[in-house]
Amino acid sequence: MEILKVNDLTVYFDTRCRPVKAVDGISFALRRGETLGIVGESGSGKSVTALTVMGLAQSIGARIVSGEVWYDGKNLLSSQDLYRQVRGKKISYIPQEAAPALNPVLQVGKQLGEMLSVHLGLSAGDVRRKTAQLLETVELPQPELVARLYPHQLSGGILQRVLLAMALSCGPDIIIADEPASSLDTTIQAQILRLLGTIKAREGLSLILIAHDLGVIYQNCDRVLIMYGGRIMEAGLTSQILENPLHPYTVSLLETYRCLEEGMKQPGLTKSCPPASRENIPDALGCVFAYRCQRAMDICFLKKAPSLTLDDGRTVSCHHLLHLRQDGNPDARM
Ligand code: SF4
Repeated sequence: MEILKVNDLTVYFDTRCRPVKAVDGISFALRRGETLGIVGESGSGKSVTALTVMGLAQSIGARIVSGEVWYDGKNLLSSQDLYRQVRGKKISYIPQEAAPALNPVLQVGKQLGEMLSVHLGLSAGDVRRKTAQLLETVELPQPELVARLYPHQLSGGILQRVLLAMALSCGPDIIIADEPASSLDTTIQAQILRLLGTIKAREGLSLILIAHDLGVIYQNCDRVLIMYGGRIMEAGLTSQILENPLHPYTVSLLETYRCLEEGMKQPGLTKSCPPASRENIPDALGCVFAYRCQRAMDICFLKKAPSLTLDDGRTVSCHHLLHLRQDGNPDARM
């Protein structure tokens, strides 16, 4: 059952030259209790999608051109009032960097307490108790001591746990985690993701996990969206997509990941430009990956590929795959 649905979302950044499409007509749904991964290179539109779903697109200077974000029977994009009712309460956000998200001159316990008193209207005593309880939930030892400290006195890993406690403070249905702890070392990142997964399962939450690391997606997500140039290239079950990719971009992304893991030089995608620099700037009528794709055909530069739903349930947007299937080769690989 779907708890969140995004329909035909298009978001622009208005530059002096022309509008740049950060998100270009994407649709997806988050099912109750699942972890949905969104993966892609920098500039693929992952974070803009997340911030738009949170109702924060304007805070980064983006303009929503079209689309709907449905939660609890309401299109949140129809009114900022609706967002005020759900943001931070029913839908929480964990940003990539913990330190800039916190007030440096306020003890972390006070910041957590402020959320509790503003959103839940708790008394001072209840705020103290709930603050300590939340810090315990995120497995912080000595929660009373941590609550009295300022952000600069805490490590990056502890700050990420504080942000997780904040995200949980009002009993959300959905958490959107934008590359949580990716700036920390891999051990700490793995600990934070494990904790997030444990809490999600225990509380019955639904999670959108944004990452550029395919390993993180593989280990933590039920389904995945592969994004490039603001569009969804391929979407489906994580095991299907990462073990048996069909879209040329997903294939290249996996090859690049494997090369980097094995320490090989010049993996495929690093030989060419990322999307924001070139093909995303013109009002791309065709496939946004065409300039980097080894399978590109003439039609790829002229016409956006339709989204095909395959027998295994995944969706893929690619002319090459469409042609292979029209030629009667439904299992054809790229
Ligand atoms: Fe490559 Fe064309 Fe498929 Fe785009 S639509 S990924 S350019 S083959």
